[in-house]
Amino acid sequence: MSNQISSESAKVCSSLGVNPVVITKTATKTTNLNPASIKKIALKCPDCGVGMSLREGKYGLSYFCNRFPYCRGSHKASKKGKPLGFPVNQETRSWRVKAHKALERLYKGSDKVMTKTEAYGFFAYSMGLSVKQAHISRLNLEQCQQVVELLDFDC
Ligand SMILES: [Zn+2]
Repeated sequence: MSNQISSESAKVCSSLGVNPVVITKTATKTTNLNPASIKKIALKCPDCGVGMSLREGKYGLSYFCNRFPYCRGSHKASKKGKPLGFPVNQETRSWRVKAHKALERLYKGSDKVMTKTEAYGFFAYSMGLSVKQAHISRLNLEQCQQVVELLDFDC
C-alpha cells in the first residue's frame, strides 16, 4: 500500500478546498514490554475477524481484538509474544474454561484422584492425543465438550 495520494484524488481534494489526508494504520502502543524479545504475530480476532494487538493484560501478555472493548476477543501469548495454542471464538473459549476446570478437578482440591502429570496423561490417552497435543488451549469446541462429558463435569 502506498502512502501517496493519487493525482486524481488530489485534484478532487483541491477542487473541494480540502487537504488530502492519507489514513495509515497506526502502530500499536505496547509500552512497558520488552520489545527486543517480543515477536508480534498477525492474528485475526476469532470473534469478529479484525486484527489483534499484543498487550499486557490481566493474565499476562495477550492478543486483544483491535475493536476492544466493543469486542472482547482475546488470546493468551507466551512472554515472547507467541500465541498459545490457536485462538477460538467466545463459545469455544468458555468451553475451554469448563474443560480446564473438569481436568483440574482430577488433580486439585480435597477430592483429587491423581497427580497433574497423570491427569494430563489420562486426558491425552482418552482423547487420542499425544502428550504434546494435550493442552486445553489446543482444543476445538467439540474436543472441549468431549473432555467435559468424559470427566462427567457438572457445569
Ligand atoms: Zn474482535
